Amino acid sequence: MSSNVKQAEAFEKLVEFADKHDALIVADIGSQSLWLKAAKDRPENLYLSGPMGMASSVALGVAMSHKDRLVIAACGDGALGMNMGSLATISNTAPDNLIVVVMDNGVYEFTKSLPVPSLGVNWSNVSHTYPGFKSTVTLPDIGTLDTKNGPHFVHAEIEPAELPPGPGMHAVDVHHRFKSLFSK
Ligand SMILES: [Mg+2]
Repeated sequence: MSSNVKQAEAFEKLVEFADKHDALIVADIGSQSLWLKAAKDRPENLYLSGPMGMASSVALGVAMSHKDRLVIAACGDGALGMNMGSLATISNTAPDNLIVVVMDNGVYEFTKSLPVPSLGVNWSNVSHTYPGFKSTVTLPDIGTLDTKNGPHFVHAEIEPAELPPGPGMHAVDVHHRFKSLFSK
């Protein structure tokens, strides 16, 4: 994917993939949750609130708890940079139903586009650095992933853009809606 792809388009592609596989998506607080909801609000979306950078960790827990569902972590590059240890944990645990996506725009979009400390990380090399990941692909190639044989890492190169409107949902309601998927 070229670097001029907007985050809205990236999330539209991600949601299209998720719908095809009935996948759960756990999104980082801030830009990732806002763009995900703008692309498509679905009960299978968990918009995180509270600490930044926890989407990969929460998605790991969801994947371990619901092995019959494909789980996608939608991470910002700034957020994942705060929680790089989660990649080591995922690599070591290696749930086959987890995909970690990093939305790489080089900035903290939510805070006036300040540069992220993880700038320069070679996201396309994650499955070499963390060998429990079976592969690393770019977002346009997400459809080529073997969803039964993860975990996988997806590098989405995007450009900074204006934020969409806020979620318009209380965090408690988001969590109750997500959890109700598993109480039937
Ligand atoms: Mg960013």
